[in-house]
Amino acid sequence: MPELPEVETIARGLAARVTGDVIESVWLGSKPEPLKSPAAEIAGTLELSRIAGVRRVGKHIVFDLESARVARAPSPAKKAGRARARMPAPTLSHASAPTSKPAQWIVHLGMTGRMLVSKPEDEIAKHTHAIAKLASGRELRFVDPRRFGRLSVAHGFEAVGSEPLEVGLERFVRLFRGRKTPIKSALLNQKLLSGVGNIYADESLFRAGIRPRRRAASLTHENLRRLYLAVQEVLKEAIALGGSSVSDYVDADGEEGFFQLQHRAYGREGEPCLVCKTHIKRVVIAGRSSHYCPKCQS
Ligand SMILES: [Zn+2]
Repeated sequence: MPELPEVETIARGLAARVTGDVIESVWLGSKPEPLKSPAAEIAGTLELSRIAGVRRVGKHIVFDLESARVARAPSPAKKAGRARARMPAPTLSHASAPTSKPAQWIVHLGMTGRMLVSKPEDEIAKHTHAIAKLASGRELRFVDPRRFGRLSVAHGFEAVGSEPLEVGLERFVRLFRGRKTPIKSALLNQKLLSGVGNIYADESLFRAGIRPRRRAASLTHENLRRLYLAVQEVLKEAIALGGSSVSDYVDADGEEGFFQLQHRAYGREGEPCLVCKTHIKRVVIAGRSSHYCPKCQS
């Protein structure tokens, strides 16, 4: 399942490839699960929109859209793009928009979702649920065999929790202070931090020397400071690793898995700790496997 670093890497890869391109038409498949917004609304919002940017919000890929319809109207020969971008929202854009905020295409990859940048002649993979034809001639294709991924459109979409790579230390400390749940559960709580999943929670706790079952409320400021640094370090390392493999992911229609950070705890039950050789333990917390070193973590 793609976690924050994977989604960040994919969003960056997509941004580099399709920013500025215009979605000319949209095809949506007949399977209902991938469509979180009505098909007509998705198609109506995407068609004739320019992709102003692609970014990650929590574990979502967000395509920021702007209307491309005005671009076809004759405009005074002012300085190009910038001036146009500051103009008030064009009247033709997004008739169904409930607010004046620009439209967004939100993609959640679920377990097996992929967003591919394809050439029109590329064979259409099985389990393709959406195709956006771009003015450049390429296509954005959403492929998802298990159909846990979701496509929707929104205005002003924001994650509920704090962004782990942007949150400051004191805010981070306040998120966890006083909580009676195990710190592992708190790390996975998307209302606190947005986008930290099981693997990176275990890896962060290992690096911070904190057992996953410790109650969040029992952690000192220094514990939380170390955890804060560990979360950032782990996520940034994984994002750096992903840079080299993103082309396999967004440009190919193969089935390669995600790149992986060298795990120090996650998935290493019974294997020797890389620091002290003690066997890594596995416990289940809130239904999720948690891995830790009983000696290095307390
Ligand atoms: Zn150890």
